[in-house]
Amino acid sequence: MTTLTKTEDVPAPTESDAFLSVRDLRVQFSTEDGIVKAVDGLSFDLKRGQTLGIVGESGSGKSVTNLTVLGLHNPRTTNITGSIRLDGQEVTDLKDKELETLRGNKMAMIFQDALTALSPYYTIGRQISEPFRKHTGASKKEARDRAIEMLGKVGIPDPKRRVDDYPHQFSGGMRQRAMIAMSLVCNPELLIADEPTTALDVTVQAQILDLLKDLQQEFGSAIIMITHDLGVVANMADDLLVMYAGRAVERGTVREVLQKPSHPYTVGLLRSMPSLTSDVNEPLTPIPGSPPSLLNPPPGCAFSARCSYTDLVAGGLCTSERPHLADGRAAACHLTAEQKQQAFFETIQPRLG
Ligand code: ADP
Ligand code: MG
Repeated sequence: MTTLTKTEDVPAPTESDAFLSVRDLRVQFSTEDGIVKAVDGLSFDLKRGQTLGIVGESGSGKSVTNLTVLGLHNPRTTNITGSIRLDGQEVTDLKDKELETLRGNKMAMIFQDALTALSPYYTIGRQISEPFRKHTGASKKEARDRAIEMLGKVGIPDPKRRVDDYPHQFSGGMRQRAMIAMSLVCNPELLIADEPTTALDVTVQAQILDLLKDLQQEFGSAIIMITHDLGVVANMADDLLVMYAGRAVERGTVREVLQKPSHPYTVGLLRSMPSLTSDVNEPLTPIPGSPPSLLNPPPGCAFSARCSYTDLVAGGLCTSERPHLADGRAAACHLTAEQKQQAFFETIQPRLG
């Protein structure tokens, strides 16, 4: 029997194909109250030139994951296990100095708040040109020209003049652009954007996201887009990872996950977000309750206490056995495909009618 070759049948890439490959990452903080399991067995891949969206409520471990990728945790209070491979190189083994080099040349981060990333005491131009000089050995003049070029690229009008401004002379949107210029000045191959537009109004937000897409085209960077806004990932990302209580609960292409969510938590997120509901008059339903403590996480599924469907699963499995997240398109949930079909269909039904 011959089989037709469809694109869907192409096997998933092997680990080494991915530019960034994270395996069974665990990040724990020692605190006065005990050990916080901020990230608890996380795996994902990201290819060059692609964007991975990471979504989840506040406290789900999105920022901690990405600060770990960047090597920005204090080793004295943080216990990190698992593997983070960037372009084949194990990041978790690197020394501070090596990480610093990597953070300039290969990876960079854009934060939610440009004010925390920019120093009030130095001109915008200096803050963009310094890392460039450090990593390339360029002259002062070359680095200044490069800063002006970058400001132009991120859409700052009259960059030749604005390059000598201080951050307080820029508007919020312009500061965000300047920070993007600072992050991209050394052509990083991996860009981590942590809620990059949350503090901005909707128009500026759309402009910044467009800008990131354009720059990605130009530089071919891989992007991790961390957000609690599914509307942002719908626009920006290729793949989507949904995180809850330090774990990945669902993974797939953006289209797969948003059109046919397979985890009750993802369904809850979708029903609680205005940006994706088709009808503006449709009531939004927040997910009841709040995430579990990461000091003493419950056995079983971390979402079980807030899930409306645990009764459908026999033997109290949801509260006793941690559901596994398979590779590729997957959800970590004990419900069967039929149960999900029925459960989610029924709950979505009244909204359609
Ligand atoms: P998110 O970015 O998804 O909102 P975070 O990754 O910032 O969430 O945080 C995940 C969890 O780790 C939270 O419970 C947070 O309080 C905890 N956490 C983050 N950093 C530290 C730290 N340095 N020490 C102790 N706990 C921390
Ligand atoms: Mg965060």
